[in-house]
Amino acid sequence: MLQRDFTEEQNMFRDAYRKFLASEIVPHMEDWRAAGIVDREAFRKAGEQGFLMIWPDEKYGGLGDDDFRFEQIIIEETAYARVGDWFNSLHSRLVGPYFTRFGSEEQCQRFLPGCISGDTILAIAMTEPDAGSDLAGMRATAIEKDDHWVLNGSKTYISNGINADLVIVAAKTDPENNPHHMTLFLVERGMEGFERGRNLDKMGLKAQDTAELFFNDVKLPRENVLGEPGQGFIYLMKGLAEERLIGAAGYIASAQLSWDLTADYVKERKAFGKPLAAFQNTQFQLADMRTQLDIAQTYVDQCVRAFTAGQLSAADAAKAKLVCSELSITAADLGVQLHGGAGYMDEYPISRQFTDSRINTIYAGSSEVMKIIISRDCLSDDYVPFNTRNF
Ligand SMILES: Cc1cc2nc3c(=O)[nH]c(=O)nc-3n(C[C@H](O)[C@H](O)[C@H](O)COP(=O)(O)OP(=O)(O)OC[C@H]3O[C@@H](n4cnc5c(N)ncnc54)[C@H](O)[C@@H]3O)c2cc1C
Repeated sequence: MLQRDFTEEQNMFRDAYRKFLASEIVPHMEDWRAAGIVDREAFRKAGEQGFLMIWPDEKYGGLGDDDFRFEQIIIEETAYARVGDWFNSLHSRLVGPYFTRFGSEEQCQRFLPGCISGDTILAIAMTEPDAGSDLAGMRATAIEKDDHWVLNGSKTYISNGINADLVIVAAKTDPENNPHHMTLFLVERGMEGFERGRNLDKMGLKAQDTAELFFNDVKLPRENVLGEPGQGFIYLMKGLAEERLIGAAGYIASAQLSWDLTADYVKERKAFGKPLAAFQNTQFQLADMRTQLDIAQTYVDQCVRAFTAGQLSAADAAKAKLVCSELSITAADLGVQLHGGAGYMDEYPISRQFTDSRINTIYAGSSEVMKIIISRDCLSDDYVPFNTRNF
């Protein structure tokens, strides 16, 4: 088995988080799936026990430990426990860092304590009905008026969209002259003109509230502009390496689980008088997948080290996202095939692995977008090959 360099403290953290999931999250998951939304209490419970947004400084209520491997553990265990529709890492590590990266001290003091305790749930809204991969095509706009901004537009497919108390919304702020002139706004629950639409019915991730959001003349004080006006597009790009690493860590964990579920099944299930695992086709398919998973996991762990050293490039993170998202689907697909009819039944976990993972090559930047990023990098004249870099 491949060695992974988690510390003793991190292994203890993993055990504690696993126990937390088993007692506080897993037992409720079926109800939340039926309801199409995770109970807000999940965030509060995780906050109480120190599993939500652990990285911010102690002065805001965090643990002040920015080592990504703690989040990697959270992401992996969430996948292994099959509660990936609880988007706690979107809240904790994908949206939360926008405050410390680009926000003011006043904004950090105002919002971070609630985010860390789980009282304030976060979302980020970029995608619109007519603009997903091509963010510059968005239509939401905000206009500066006297001492405030007025936001108009709509967003769709927003994760945590119903539960969110605070949404980072990207809008164009000079639409006539520059499609990349965007600003990020902090839109709070209850603001006049901020409405939620449908909680969208999806193929998988049934407990995740993925929603439409509408903004009709929402009046935003200047204090609710995140960072500098006009820098929104650049801010969104800056977070991408970390966001894709978060994705990759989760997708590879999901692929690992699909493999484990399938390996267990083929050892038990018999056909033609012997276990499925005795057929060479089964052995070769699982050996092939096992090899790909081990290689991908090693690359993800290497990316985590590079990230910790401040050296993970957007293109290297895109490679991890591309490979792991694709693997999460092929591992689940192989699992369904080797389960036979049982694999198509919702009562078998592999069936949900299949429907839950299908989105992985689409959101957080599709596989095609990842290939655009990677090709731009590796075909450029100043490309530095991965195996010649030190981290
Ligand atoms: C469950 C779920 C949760 C989501 N959560 C969020 C969220 O929290 N916040 C948020 O802002 N968004 C969210 N999204 C939106 C998601 O990020 C977008 O769906 C994604 O970026 C793709 O955009 P699109 O759906 O508009 O597809 P399109 O951009 O229309 O793409 C359609 C197809 O065309 C391909 N394509 C597009 N451009 C090119 C190109 N230049 N070259 C080759 N192929 C191309 C794409 O790869 C894709 O295969 C979520 C989506 C889902 C389904």
